[in-house]
Order: sequence, then C-alpha cells, then structure tokens
Amino acid sequence: MKSATASVPTRPAAGESKRISVLGATGSIGLSTLDLVGRHPDRFSIDALTAHTNVADLAKLAVQHGAARAVISDASLYDDLKAALRGTGIAVSAGPDALVEAAMGDADFVMAGIVGSAGLAPTMAAIRRGADVGLANKECLVCAGDIVMAEVARSGGHLLPVDSEHNAIFQVFDEARADSVARIVLTASGGPFRTWTRDAMASATPEAAVAHPNWSMGAKISVDSATMMNKGLEMIEAYHLFPVSPSQVDVLVHPQSVIHSMVEYIDGSTLAQLGSPDMRTPIASCLAWPERISAPSPKLDLAELGQLTFERPDESRFPALRLARHCLEAGSEAATVLNAANEIAVAAFLARRLGFLQIATVVELALETISGWSTTTLDDVFALDAEARRITADLIKTGKIAS
Ligand code: NDP
Ligand code: MG
Repeated sequence: MKSATASVPTRPAAGESKRISVLGATGSIGLSTLDLVGRHPDRFSIDALTAHTNVADLAKLAVQHGAARAVISDASLYDDLKAALRGTGIAVSAGPDALVEAAMGDADFVMAGIVGSAGLAPTMAAIRRGADVGLANKECLVCAGDIVMAEVARSGGHLLPVDSEHNAIFQVFDEARADSVARIVLTASGGPFRTWTRDAMASATPEAAVAHPNWSMGAKISVDSATMMNKGLEMIEAYHLFPVSPSQVDVLVHPQSVIHSMVEYIDGSTLAQLGSPDMRTPIASCLAWPERISAPSPKLDLAELGQLTFERPDESRFPALRLARHCLEAGSEAATVLNAANEIAVAAFLARRLGFLQIATVVELALETISGWSTTTLDDVFALDAEARRITADLIKTGKIAS
C-alpha cells in the first residue's frame, strides 16, 4: 500500500479485544462483518452500527450485538429508530453528520461498508483520526483516491483492503521491495453476462444482472460486475492502494473466482491468493490483521474443482473496462466523474429507466461532457461528484443516449 508511516494511536495488543464500528451494517459486507464478530465475542465488541433506511434490521442488529449506538443516515427516520430501540440503552442518532460522528467514535477498527460516494465523508472521518479502516467502499478511492491516500499517510492509520482482489494483492505484495513487482493482475469472474453477445445484453433485465454466478452481493456492485465496471473501478482502486503505475495494472477473466488476484515479480514468479468466493475470508483477514482468525467460509477443494480457467477481458463487449482504463490514465477528476455517472446510471437501470448497454454509453457521454475541473480538496470532489450526478441524470431524463 501507499501507506502510513506516521505515529499511530494506541492499538489493542495481540489477542486483546478490538472495538468495531460498521458503516453500512445492514448490507452484504456489513452482515458478513457482523457474522464474524458474532463468532468471536472474545475478540470484538461493537461501538456504532449504521444504515441508510433499513430501521428494522439496524435496530435488530444493534440489540443482537450490544452496540453502543445506532445511526440511520436518512434523518427523517430518527423517530422510527428511536421507537425501535426505546428501553435498550443504545444511543440513537440520524442524518449525514451523525454518520460522520459514528466514524469518529472510539472504535479501533471501522468497516467502510457503505455503497457509493455517500460513504466518503464518514470513511475520511475514520481515517483522519487514525483508526484502522477496512475498505470495502471502493467508490471512495475511485472518486477521491489521491486525497484519501494522503490522509492515510498523514494520520498513521491503516487502510486494509476488503475487496477480495485487493485483499489478495495485499497478502502477496512485497511492500519492502515494490521495485521488484512487474505488474498486478486483478482477476474477474466476468459476471453473469460473460458469454452473452451485445444483442442479448441489450435486453438484459435488472433481475438477470444482479444474479451473480459466484458472489452474493448488494444490487449496485452486482450490476457493476455485469457491466464489468466493477473491474474498472477496481483497477483505479488498486492503483491508489499499491505502489504501481497505471500500466502495471492488468485484468484477467477467471470464471471460477478462486484465484482472487496475483502479483507478478520481475524474476517471473507470480504469487496469488486463493480461496472460495466468500467475503468472510477477506473480511476476517482485515478484522484480525496482522493476526488471523477462523472464518466459516467453505474450505477450498481443488481436486473437486478439477480445473481453473482463464480468458482475456473483452473490451468490445464490456466497454466499461475501456472507460475506466482511460480514467486511470487521465487522472483523478475523470475518475470522480466515472464513478458518479456510473452510480446514477446503475440506479436508473435498476429502476428500469435505462437499458443495460446504455449504462456505459451514458457514462462515456458524461465523461465527454464534463471538463475543466481541478479537485485538490474534499469539497472540490463533492462539488464535481454533484455536478456529474446532475449532468448524468439530465442526460438520462432527456433521453439523449443511443445504445
Ligand atoms: P449493500 O447494498 O448490500 O449495502 C449497502 C449498505 O450501505 C447498507 O447498509 C445501506 O443501508 C447503506 N447505504 C446505502 N446507501 C447509503 C447512503 N446514501 N448513505 C449511507 N448509507 C447507505 O452493498 P454491499 O454490502 O454489497 O457493498 C458495500 C460496498 O462494498 C460497496 O462499495 C461495494 O462495491 C463494496 N464491496 C462489496 C462486496 C460484496 O461482496 N458485497 C465485495 C467487494 C466490495 P440500508 O440497508 O438502510 O439501505
Ligand atoms: Mg472485488
């Protein structure tokens, strides 16, 4: 990682209990994190849990895990959460500022499991105070990677990659000898439309797009996997996390999702991390880092699997990969626009207001439309993110997009 060397706040010693906060506790990453926390009550306790609108599940999880506080980011739901937790002694708050306060509590480790750039402000708040952060929320690094990594270096906290590919690379990347790395290779399942023609994809439904062959995930990242924008976002994420240049970041399609990524060294050695496709493995590695804890993920049985296969990515059928590569080379402002436009386009597709192939088309149009920005502060990023969202929504509403 392009990571921290400054002094760090006091951390629990090896084997001591860690205090955990989970941003996005009701989501796929949040629930997997809490599943592990529940299996290791001697190792972890819960400070704050957050959700956006899902009051019922948030209240249930907060009680189940003995959380100190529960935060709902949709401020209009404060009364509902308050009522659901009355008499439990769990502190309740609501709204975007409360989300940031939750990240600023006294947790040793904050899981950044919110989806989209909505997670940027609380994730930055946790980084700023030097907490260890488990980063699932890749959109943070795509839209503000330079600023986020500069803050990690300044604060002295550790940014631990949860995304399975980046967690794999983290485990096999020799930080002390970064010059000996030739390239990193992100593996991609290829998603549910790996073998589909463009004609077939033109009428793909949200139901088909979220039906991922290997992983069970939230709706947005599932659609990103179907367009392969997920791998594009991950190329940018990898560039920020590890000391590599854009040309050293490659993608390889590997439909079984067993090899989670690889690091190729200049002497021809390639080191990989393998595991069954279960996010509880990379999450466990981050929660316990630098130690290890047991996880219930199915153990790999390579003899049973028989074979692992590989293909080159096809940028003509999956243009999102080409767009992300362009943004990786063009710099941080283009990546901010890519991410915001993609979030709006995916939401429109899920709401059946946009065709599947038009997701990449509208993102490309947004990238062509927006120029002349320079983002050096977080406020600049928020302003560009908002502008890109507004322009993309407008492009969709006015129907100016051909597939
Ligand atoms: P989910 O959609 O399952 O969960 C998202 C979580 O964020 C929920 O708790 C949700 O609350 C909350 N949330 C949604 N919108 C907002 C908002 N505007 N403000 C605050 N909180 C919000 O997503 P995933 O768990 O699948 O993904 C989370 C992140 O992790 C994403 O960035 C994704 O790319 C990344 N990731 C996920 C993987 C996976 O296996 N799922 C693998 C690798 C990375 P509520 O329930 O109330 O809506
Ligand atoms: Mg991934």
